[in-house]
Amino acid sequence: MMRRWKMSELNEKIKLFAFDLDGILYIGDNAMPGAVELVNHLREKYQVVFFTNNSSKTSRQVHEKLNKLRIECALNEVYTSSSATADYLKESGIDDVYVVGSKGFREEIRGHGIRIVDDDSAKNLVVGLDFDFSYDKIAIALSILLKGGKFIVCNKDRSFHAGENKFLPGCGAIVGAISAAADKKPDFIVGKPNTYILSKISKDFNVEHDEIVVVGDSYESDIKMALNYKSKSILINNNDYIAHEDIIVFKDLKELLNYRRREK
Ligand SMILES: [Mg+2]
Repeated sequence: MMRRWKMSELNEKIKLFAFDLDGILYIGDNAMPGAVELVNHLREKYQVVFFTNNSSKTSRQVHEKLNKLRIECALNEVYTSSSATADYLKESGIDDVYVVGSKGFREEIRGHGIRIVDDDSAKNLVVGLDFDFSYDKIAIALSILLKGGKFIVCNKDRSFHAGENKFLPGCGAIVGAISAAADKKPDFIVGKPNTYILSKISKDFNVEHDEIVVVGDSYESDIKMALNYKSKSILINNNDYIAHEDIIVFKDLKELLNYRRREK
């Protein structure tokens, strides 16, 4: 274990812990050992929020899942790339989109008052994880991009954890297919490692970048987002990282919880 910064030194400064979900607080439908205890422990002193690049579920669905796993939280503490993307569209004045994505993603977009058009007469393209992705959808996406439509994507994750030792293709695989067809990169990527979600958290909870600790299991995604935003971070169960003074690494949540209790 490598410790670069000590939470005890920063107790005065840190106000909020932001947790990644998949692979950190749960895998599939199971809470990780120590997840409930750690969140309860931190809540005694800090604001706790939750974020995920998952773009197939609404924030409401993720909120329900967390509470079912006994990780108690309020709806406004849950950030998904689906709801963040809908927020981004709204903020950017993009009000007419073709959606590659799930029912939940469409619900978030419609819920933000944005018009969904189901053919290539749509002015812009928005892409999330879509379990019914098809050749026809690439064709419609291509047509919109060739006409100069904006290309907004939830994230570029290559794959995601679907159970122990099981991975499935992520939103990035779908973005890649569309990008290849149109020879065009996305105009904006909402999810991590981009800092859009973290900047929303910062604004919503009125905390500065250096008052946030990000806890995640992916150096490339969670930790890079934290570094990009100049926040502290805790990397769990992953040796694939570059030593940096703003990162601490723990084997699992229980080790982090024990460390917290010792330092208290
Ligand atoms: Mg994760």
